[in-house]
Amino acid sequence: MTEVKPRIGFIGLGIMGRPMAENLLRAGYPLVAYNRSSDKVAALVEEGAQAAENPAQVAERSDVVITMLPDTPDVGEVYFGSQGIMTRIRPDHLLIDMSTVSPAMARRIFANAEAHGAESLDAPVSGGDVGAKAGTLSIMVGGSQPAFARAEPIFQVLGKSILHMGASGAGQVTKACNQIVVALTIEAVGEALVLAQRSGVDPAKVREALLGGFAQSRVLEVHGQRALEGRFEPGFRIRLHRKDLHIALDTAQSQGVSTPVTALVHDMMNSLVAHGYGDEDHSYLIAELAGRANIELS
Ligand code: NAD
Repeated sequence: MTEVKPRIGFIGLGIMGRPMAENLLRAGYPLVAYNRSSDKVAALVEEGAQAAENPAQVAERSDVVITMLPDTPDVGEVYFGSQGIMTRIRPDHLLIDMSTVSPAMARRIFANAEAHGAESLDAPVSGGDVGAKAGTLSIMVGGSQPAFARAEPIFQVLGKSILHMGASGAGQVTKACNQIVVALTIEAVGEALVLAQRSGVDPAKVREALLGGFAQSRVLEVHGQRALEGRFEPGFRIRLHRKDLHIALDTAQSQGVSTPVTALVHDMMNSLVAHGYGDEDHSYLIAELAGRANIELS
């Protein structure tokens, strides 16, 4: 007997959402799609998706709803707005928010879904547009075990490392931790490469030397190379990473945890956004450090 796949509603077809939705279509999931700018929906319809006119219609016509939106207010609008998902919530629904937003928003969605007998998961990702296209994302999941088990076949299409982190909000807390490590590593790589060049040592060779030892990391490998080549097209926009550090700082404050260096890098990202660099890749932080030393890395 052939397995009947649930109908998936997908909302948010940007850098990440579009390739994720395409992978689900290719894996044979029927898909209903909605995005604020409708040209992105039209492109997906050509690949076999159905179009919806608003989030409520997506919920009405699907069993599992996945959202991949920029920020917490966007997710709030799509779930709780006047044409939002919650206006059509049913007990058989599974709602999966894969955006990076506050743990508090994840818990709000969970509580509302639960009050209607439905299930929800927070499932933010790491791995960037490359991981989204290749279906190799790292997925960090918060919510109940039965909901996780129900979503697992879908996650298998989208990602490679799929971990159930705990109750609702635990996925978003994990993602905030991830974003601290990535941001502070970019900063460290930038300081090291700038110091090398200023001291008359080839930063490309320093990168190579460090990749062979304890200081090696994906950030040094990928963003170190980007910075040496002066390539800062996104990728992952500075304004989105700033948003993630804001979530991390908020979470730290609510838990009484000291995160001084996260605050510092968040402040640097604020300045970059204010100076018009918000849509550059987050590795542009390295160019900013080079600018402070009055050099260009090469
Ligand atoms: P994006 O800005 O490229 O895409 C977001 C999409 O959502 C856009 O198509 C936009 O039109 C749509 N949208 C916004 N508000 C909407 C609304 N109210 N209703 C319907 N559609 C709406 O962003 P992205 O890079 O795809 O990131 C999405 C999420 O994934 C963010 O939370 C981001 O932090 C996270 N993320 C991004 C990356 C990355 O490398 N880009 C990596 C990991 C996680």
